[in-house]
Amino acid sequence: TDDSWLTLPNPHGVPVEICAGPDVPIESAAVDELLTVLETEATLRTLAAATPGLDEAPRIDRVVCTPDFHKGAGIPIGTVIRTRGALIPQAVGNDINCGMRVEATSLTVDRVRPHLDRLEGHLRHLFFEGGRQIGLTPAHREGLLREGLPGLFSAGGPGHRLHPQVRDEDLDGLLHTAAYPAASAEGFRDWITSGGGTSFDSIIGSVGGGNHFAELQYVSQVHDGAAAYAWGLAPGRVVLMVHSGSLSLGHQANATGQDQARALWPKGVPAPRNRILPMLLDEAGAARRERYLTAFANAANFAIGNRFFLALMMRAGLAAVAGDVGARLVYDAPHNLLWPAADGTVVHRKGATPAGGATSEAQPWGEPVIVPGSMGAPSHLLRGLGNTRALTSACHGAGRSIPRGSASRGSDAELDAFLAEFRVVTPLNHRDPAVAGRRDIIEAWRRDLKQEAPWAYKEVGAVVHSLGTAGVATPVAELRPLLTVKG
Ligand code: 5GP
Ligand code: MN
Ligand code: MN
Repeated sequence: TDDSWLTLPNPHGVPVEICAGPDVPIESAAVDELLTVLETEATLRTLAAATPGLDEAPRIDRVVCTPDFHKGAGIPIGTVIRTRGALIPQAVGNDINCGMRVEATSLTVDRVRPHLDRLEGHLRHLFFEGGRQIGLTPAHREGLLREGLPGLFSAGGPGHRLHPQVRDEDLDGLLHTAAYPAASAEGFRDWITSGGGTSFDSIIGSVGGGNHFAELQYVSQVHDGAAAYAWGLAPGRVVLMVHSGSLSLGHQANATGQDQARALWPKGVPAPRNRILPMLLDEAGAARRERYLTAFANAANFAIGNRFFLALMMRAGLAAVAGDVGARLVYDAPHNLLWPAADGTVVHRKGATPAGGATSEAQPWGEPVIVPGSMGAPSHLLRGLGNTRALTSACHGAGRSIPRGSASRGSDAELDAFLAEFRVVTPLNHRDPAVAGRRDIIEAWRRDLKQEAPWAYKEVGAVVHSLGTAGVATPVAELRPLLTVKG
């Protein structure tokens, strides 16, 4: 299995390993970026020296990169960092609790394929032409931000108040996601009270642009029949996959984290060169840390709610063309989050997904690991093996091979042909004249979409293969796209 691991020469006394087989390209810019992250070990020593009375020296005790690892803004995407006695807001990624949600339906691809034109029309209406109509009251919003989906549903009466197409019985088997309890949601009062409590929500149900998506797929291959069966998957079965995060709320929570970390930074001590500001887990910083962690939990809960509603919109479109969808949740997997443990360690995942092993009660088959490919390409579903060398983490995608923002290839005509071939639903051909007439908006969407072409990503097969040979996760099923909504 050592073919699947690269061990970096222990630069700052921190064990650093990259999980990637020989077929996975490793970007040297990402390795350089990773090495600057390790300067944070020195930052922690500086902080400890300026902070009397710590029980234990804070430190980074392990760093692991996943096979989709690539350069990010300061910390590479695909990095897992376990600290002791400190947490690092920047090691979570800007889009707090960005994640992947997968639901299995009871429909087969043969049942759905003949209706794809009509479905496309319905989804265009639901996502981009005012058909969304998710009516949330301030109590719904506050319940969601403080308690996650259970808070949303206990706050607001029957499910049909949330969307004309939701029935209470449809919700069974769809709500079993994590929740991040928060004592308040005051930082997000503006959103909570937006719309005067009567109109449809203007944010929730937005895909979020870039590489976020809501995709209709089908099971094209089953590798592990028993696990697939247990998760409601069989060859030909239609599946929904949603990738989105916390939109503007995550950015706001991150800004809160940065403000609090700056306020906690000892006076007169120069800021670290890599600009990564950790927070010590000491008593003196408790109130400021709590302010960050509350906003963090609010954003994390929002992201789960947003994925729930995006999946609901996909189900509503499907139901309109194919009748009873019969969906159930396979998993809602976060990939930008931190996990504090009782022993003083904190696991930070920035663009990496948990890959816990089998537990008899909660996950008899191991934790579902969702690895999307790219627009138009197959995606994969695996089961986690609980590999501690990998900090029980796997990749959350194929990973970019060409950085976003570098010159985009291809003409508008090529883009349009690609979008038509792979049935990518975008706001590009918006029927609202006010939007269709805005060339600047349309051009920005085009530029954005050209960055998402498959050639900008690593080959997902090699990435998934590495997870297997490294003993991180093992394949359960391959999923092929039928239709992708990009926002
Ligand atoms: P993130 O933005 O969370 O870092 O990356 C998510 C992953 O989603 C990317 O690495 C890529 O593999 C995958 N991805 C991006 N766009 C699409 C898409 O339209 N469809 C699918 N199935 N996967 C995508
Ligand atoms: Mn993401
Ligand atoms: Mn995101």
